[in-house]
Amino acid sequence: MDIQSAERKIKDLQNILNQYNYEYHVLDTPSVPDSEYDRLMNELTALEEQFPQLKTEDSPTQRVGGEILDMFEKVEHETSMLSLGNAFNEQDLRDFDRRVRQNAGDDVTYVCELKIDGLAVSLRYENGLFSIGATRGDGTIGENITANLRTIRSIPLRLKEEVSIEVRGEAFMPRKSFEALNQAKEERGEEAFANPRNAAAGSLRQLDPKIAASRNLDIYVYGLANADELGIAAHSEGLDYLEKLGFKTNKERKKCDSIEEVIEYVTDWTEKRPQLSYDIDGIVIKVDGYEQQEQLGTTAKSPRWAIAYKFPAEEVITILKDIELSIGRTGVLTPTAILEPVRVAGTTVQRASLHNEDLIREKDIKIGDHVVVKKAGDIIPEVVNVLPERRTGDEVDFQMPTVCPECGSELVRLEGEVALRCINPKCPAQIREGLIHFVSRNAMNIDGLGEKVVSQLFSEKLIEDVADLYKLTFEQLIQLARMGEKSVQNLLSAIEASKKNSLEKLLFGLGIRHVGAKAAKTLSMTFHSMEQLSSASREQLIEINEIGDKMADAIASYFEQEEALELIQELKNAGVNMEYLGPKRVSAENIDSVFAGKTIVLTGKLELFSRNEAKQKIEALGGNVSGSVSKKTDIVIAGEDAGSKLKKAEELGITVWNEERLAEELNK
Ligand code: NAD
Repeated sequence: MDIQSAERKIKDLQNILNQYNYEYHVLDTPSVPDSEYDRLMNELTALEEQFPQLKTEDSPTQRVGGEILDMFEKVEHETSMLSLGNAFNEQDLRDFDRRVRQNAGDDVTYVCELKIDGLAVSLRYENGLFSIGATRGDGTIGENITANLRTIRSIPLRLKEEVSIEVRGEAFMPRKSFEALNQAKEERGEEAFANPRNAAAGSLRQLDPKIAASRNLDIYVYGLANADELGIAAHSEGLDYLEKLGFKTNKERKKCDSIEEVIEYVTDWTEKRPQLSYDIDGIVIKVDGYEQQEQLGTTAKSPRWAIAYKFPAEEVITILKDIELSIGRTGVLTPTAILEPVRVAGTTVQRASLHNEDLIREKDIKIGDHVVVKKAGDIIPEVVNVLPERRTGDEVDFQMPTVCPECGSELVRLEGEVALRCINPKCPAQIREGLIHFVSRNAMNIDGLGEKVVSQLFSEKLIEDVADLYKLTFEQLIQLARMGEKSVQNLLSAIEASKKNSLEKLLFGLGIRHVGAKAAKTLSMTFHSMEQLSSASREQLIEINEIGDKMADAIASYFEQEEALELIQELKNAGVNMEYLGPKRVSAENIDSVFAGKTIVLTGKLELFSRNEAKQKIEALGGNVSGSVSKKTDIVIAGEDAGSKLKKAEELGITVWNEERLAEELNK
């Protein structure tokens, strides 16, 4: 691959992985299985290794987790909460062992632990009392979710010793609670959670502790942030000590003296995993000795002394009974496999997307076939392959239609795409799907307006476009099937409340091609209002880091359409907010400040500001605060006891300021 193609490919992969990260870590609603995410991440890592000059500090290969939601107070972690490197097979584990022994000597002991599939949290105790609990966030700063964490009964509020410590653990939802919660949600016609991990994260990242309390969450604590201050020499001792203090630790952990023993533990748990009452997605292997951990160190993203082995997805066999077709909001025709119901990884699966015609041909799928199904990443069911040896001769070939099953207009295949599309803008299926998207959780989030109600409103012609939602009346709604007075009232208040949403929700809801939830947020932070955004030129859009050519084109052409502008005006007249309400990002060229467009690194202990405060102030003046020093860094702010970052800055000849100089510039 030449460097230009690599650069393009890297940018594409970074964009898509940023989008997936955002959906997974910020919105708690992943759209692809973890295995797909891991595959793309491996591809990006390999490309960046091949072309190191194209690796940037903000690449998803270098960053931990997601962003921090504005609705929570921010908490700075005492030591970073990192991610873990991944192993997918025995060879990866042996390679890890080799690297460990090369750098920390041959005398190593490992601790193997179950990798609980939940949400990493940090718990701070002052003199034995639980004071602050936070999410991992971006690894340095997390969200303060203390009130929600206090509702988890296995988190001690008072320890057995009056120590001041920060501990790390995984909050999770046991399978039984997850199943009960989803059943109740389905009965209420609400969207079910994709898996226990998202359910746990969703329960802890909302503002009402009563909700968290009703969700039966639990926790396993697996680490100490400041073990060195406590005179503990090894991770296994740390876990015993945590238990003594009153924490719940996972008992299935095991010390292993060789990688053979580790592999045995992994194989054993791959089989025993379904017997657990909670979900695990792998095994975490850690070097036991703290001194050896220190010797091995960490990368920007993960420790070199630990690795996460990820289980392969569970596979089962069933019969593909039929293939159904549906038109999505962008007009894409998607075939879906209708399956003989089968249990896979904890839930019953009846449908699996087949994505497009090419995939059906490639996998040689016929109606009536025996197929292997897996829930990749334990979320989205997928047909892996067919079993031709089980064919009886009664199986039927599948033919894609040539016209839209919904409006009858001819389907087209756009250049460079595998999908067939209906390009009739008046196609009722597209309009209906667009309406469903508009009210969905990550868009305008109108509670009580699920797929069924929207379809009903649409088929009864009470709504034709999204602006009509704001014209619905009590009298119209009460006539719908299964709608009582109370639910109509709730629905009307939910519609009313959605008018106050911040711009990014509306923007995402409008369904502009290629604009996902993350891009909608970026655009809102940059342009602040619909008015500014709608008059932005293609050039202005492309200048934004995360916006590529395709997206810029789509946005500019969207706002060139007369109908789009009319629709926005109608929404505005109805009282829908058109402004961005979160913290704003200021575009660099509009600011007269030394920080505008510059990359700044903060290091050492700051006295005049907290890290977070300094970061926010610099960003408000158009600067970019990054976590590591490289050739691209413009200024390093060195506080007291600055260490390796300062040294690197000096080696690279980068401008270094002390904190006073920073204060001076910030106060100008
Ligand atoms: P990770 O899940 O691979 O591993 C790190 C995490 O493991 C820790 O933060 C902690 O929460 C957890 N953990 C559980 N038990 C533990 C134990 N005993 N000791 C230590 N840690 C333990 O890394 P990550 O950064 O949290 O997430 C990346 C992974 O998330 C990816 O590999 C991918 O599978 C998934 N992901 C999926 C999507 C998607 O769109 N489907 C998007 C982003 C990430």
